[in-house]
Amino acid sequence: MVLSPTSNPANNPLNPFGGLLDATALKIFTDAIDSLVADDGCTVPCTLAFGDTKCIVCNNCVFNTATQMSGGAYKTGGPIPFKTGGLCPLCNGRGKLTVECTEENIKLLVIWDARKFQGLGRGIVNNRASNSAKKPTVFAQTMSRVEYYPKLNAAKHIILNTDVDTYNHNKYKKITEGEFCGLSASTYVIFTWQLLD
Ligand SMILES: [Zn+2]
Repeated sequence: MVLSPTSNPANNPLNPFGGLLDATALKIFTDAIDSLVADDGCTVPCTLAFGDTKCIVCNNCVFNTATQMSGGAYKTGGPIPFKTGGLCPLCNGRGKLTVECTEENIKLLVIWDARKFQGLGRGIVNNRASNSAKKPTVFAQTMSRVEYYPKLNAAKHIILNTDVDTYNHNKYKKITEGEFCGLSASTYVIFTWQLLD
């Protein structure tokens, strides 16, 4: 969706509004969108995960080095207390957790309401049911400066709005390639994401 003004837009008879898209107008447009997608604009914190994982000792229970499994006792400071002798609810008694080892925090403009999605989903996004809550049901879109494209493209999944999601309920997978948009240049990139179970 890159719109290019003609080299001399005011003289183009096929584009009566062409003269409006001069360099000043383009700059105002780009500056306005830049302020929306900036870290201190309308963005929310998100976490990109790149799919590589590692095994760590569970931080919710006392590890039994002899059995190499959970010792069945709560470890002070862990997130989910449980009774001694019970099954650790975090690792289910395994004593170890699989965690992402490469994550990166990033701030993105998230479009939560499917009715406001940019029409760039290449036919994939057709569920545009009303959803005004900041908790998308199925799909979400993110918009950012194009400089974020490589890391967004490399991410295996994303957690949107991590400041309100401590349990990874907002975990999404990418369902489209990044789609570029902007006036006269590919300044921004939009990704469409689908909620993971
Ligand atoms: Zn545990």
